[in-house]
Amino acid sequence: MKRVYFDHNATTPVHPEVLDALLPYLKDAWGNPSSIHWAGRDPRKAIDGAREQVAQFLGCSPVEIVFTSSGSESDNFAIKGTALAKRSRGNHIITTQVEHPAVLNTCRYLEKEGFRVTYLGVDQSGTIDLEELEEAITDETILMTMMYANNETGVIFPVEEIGRIARQRGITFHTDAVQAAGKLPLDVTKLNCDLLSISGHKIYAPKGVGALYIRRGVRVVPLIHGGHHERNRRAGTENVAGIVGLGKACEIAMRDMDTEVAHIRSLRDRLEKGLMEKIPHVRLNGHPEKRIPNTTNLGFDFVEGESLLLNLDMLGIAASSGSACTSGSLEPSHVLVAMGIPPELSHGSVRFSLGRFNTEEDVDYLLENMPPIVERMRSMSPLWNEAEKKGMFMALEEK
Ligand SMILES: *Cc1c(COP(=O)(O)O)cnc(C)c1O
Repeated sequence: MKRVYFDHNATTPVHPEVLDALLPYLKDAWGNPSSIHWAGRDPRKAIDGAREQVAQFLGCSPVEIVFTSSGSESDNFAIKGTALAKRSRGNHIITTQVEHPAVLNTCRYLEKEGFRVTYLGVDQSGTIDLEELEEAITDETILMTMMYANNETGVIFPVEEIGRIARQRGITFHTDAVQAAGKLPLDVTKLNCDLLSISGHKIYAPKGVGALYIRRGVRVVPLIHGGHHERNRRAGTENVAGIVGLGKACEIAMRDMDTEVAHIRSLRDRLEKGLMEKIPHVRLNGHPEKRIPNTTNLGFDFVEGESLLLNLDMLGIAASSGSACTSGSLEPSHVLVAMGIPPELSHGSVRFSLGRFNTEEDVDYLLENMPPIVERMRSMSPLWNEAEKKGMFMALEEK
């Protein structure tokens, strides 16, 4: 069966060059990077090299990079670590309603621990209001955490301006850049951020590795205590192969971003335009321009998203509703709810997220096979049939 993968915001395949770079650290150079003897030397050098690559990718110094196990850990580390470090200064945190669960649930946890959290809403296009943000700031505010690009809709937040506001007020600013990495320029100086999270498996490196940028001088209390790894900021013998893979993936992202983004954007636009032309009553969820180039989130009226995904899966097409972390539950997406999209419509929403190995044939396969599925599903929906009748009635009236 043909297999088409349109779920790159959930995870990406490991890039062949990344695999080549990391395999030696599973096979031959298996030593402990903390060892002072011969076995530790190559792994140590490899980690140092990867740290350079990640630092270049983010426009920072290598000492400002801490390797973690995932984007989720980076988010937890940034948020809990700041909350603990600044507890004596205040107890207020500002975030948004549309963050990834790794941020939202960390904030909810901190609420139970006595912190106060403001969850800013978004408008219909999925973006926040900077005036509202400024009004939410109090003397107690110690941390702002807002994502760079949304995993469900691809909508981009004005991180530069948010960072400027945070800096003026002396508030630590963290951004989850897991979905922005490789798709948008990432320069921590320009973005005015103090902390920034990335994840390996979203940028063609393996699962189980991530990084957190910690601006020099910003104090973050460690989550994992033990040995002196990562300059005492994150204990545990390093995931050498994963780290090497992440470094390589950053190098490739820097090298190829311009051409890849152009390629992926044109495929995404072809897919989006094609579906909208071939299927009536389709709506775009999220801002049409202010979004990352690989993502489209489409609402199909009178269609149940989960069964649509199952039907697509039977044809070998992988897409998703909401984030991988919440799919499987029948709760409507918290992101679409925050955008004011009624639950019955957000239930009929599907996210297509494209990647570097997608082709025009992939898109055409979808454009050929999806419209009949939607038509069949709608023809079985009593609501759709009723609406159609009404539509016909109105058309008659107009005559
Ligand atoms: C995937 C994702 C994460 C979590 O990263 P993991 O490495 O899977 O833990 C965090 N934030 C966003 C925006 C994501 O898309």
